[in-house]
Amino acid sequence: MTRIADKTFRFGAVEGPMILIHAGAGDSCGETPEQAEQIRVDLKKAVRAGFDALKKTDDASEAVCAAIHVLEDATEFNAGRGAALTEDGKAQMDACLMTGDGDAGSVFGVTCAKHPIDAAKAVKECTKHVCMDNPSEELLGQLGVETVENEYFITDARREMLAKAKEDGDDWGKHGTVGAVARNSEGIVVAGTSTGGITNQMNGRIGDSPLPGCGTYANNRSAAISCTGIGEAFIKETAAVQIADRMRFAGQDPAEASRIVLDGIESHHGDGGVIVMSPHGEAVVAFNSEMMNFAFADDDQAIPFPLEDGLE
Ligand code: ASP
Repeated sequence: MTRIADKTFRFGAVEGPMILIHAGAGDSCGETPEQAEQIRVDLKKAVRAGFDALKKTDDASEAVCAAIHVLEDATEFNAGRGAALTEDGKAQMDACLMTGDGDAGSVFGVTCAKHPIDAAKAVKECTKHVCMDNPSEELLGQLGVETVENEYFITDARREMLAKAKEDGDDWGKHGTVGAVARNSEGIVVAGTSTGGITNQMNGRIGDSPLPGCGTYANNRSAAISCTGIGEAFIKETAAVQIADRMRFAGQDPAEASRIVLDGIESHHGDGGVIVMSPHGEAVVAFNSEMMNFAFADDDQAIPFPLEDGLE
C-alpha cells in the first residue's frame, strides 16, 4: 500500500486477480478499542473470503458477493444484520451489483433478504429488470434468495443509535455501508455495495448505493467503483460514473478522479469515501471523512491486511 496523498491510498498495479473492500467511512473506526479490533477481524475475514472465491472461480462477481456476505453477517457494519434503522425502527436495505460489461441488478428498501447483495445479484441474473423496489418474500423465494424476518437484522446497538438520533438530530457521522470491487485474471471488473442507509432516515428513502452510476458502477473500459457516505451528495454528483468517466475520457488516474469527485461531494456538504479498481489493476481508496475501513488482497499480498495505518 502506498499513501499517495492525504486520505488517498494505492495498491496493486500488477495485472492479476485482486479485491478491495470497504466497510464505510465516518468519524471513527469503532467506538471502543474492542469494536475497532472486531472491525479489523471481520474485514480480514471478508477480504480473504472474497479473494479465495476469486482464486477458485476467477469470477469477480463471486468474489464481490463472497466478501459482502461476510460483512452483511457481521453486526458492526451497516448492511444486512446490524443495518441502520429507519425512523420507524425497520431495517430497509439497498444493494447493487454491477459487472464491467454494463449489466446491473439492484434492490431498494429490501426488508427480508438475508443477504441483500444476493437479491441484487438475482435481479441482475434472473430477471429482465435492473432495479426492484422491495421485492416480496415470495418473489425472493422464487429467485432462490434466502429470506428472514425483519427482526433478524435489528440489533440493540442500532436501536440505541436510532433513539439517540431522534434525541440529538440525525446521526450522519457513522456510515458503515459495505462494498467491494474485484478484478479477475482477464481484467473483468465488478462492483457491489450493500447498506442499511442512514439512521433515522425517512421511510422509503433511497440512497446512492443501489443506484448504478451513483454509489456503484463498473465498466471494463474504465473502472469498478463502490462509494460510501452521505448518499444524497453522491447522487447529486453521480459520483461513481463520474470517477469512471474522468478516467476513461479525461485520462485521469483513479486517485486524481476520486479526489475531484470528493471535492464535489464536499460542495454538497457530504462526506464519505470511494474504492476504485481499474481493469489494469490499479486500486485506490480515497475519502474525505475522518476515517475509512478498507482491506485489499492480491497474489503478492497472500496475507490480506486490514489497514491499521489506513485509519487517519
Ligand atoms: N451511502 C449510504 C446511503 O446514503 C450510507 C453510507 O454509505 O453509510 O444510503
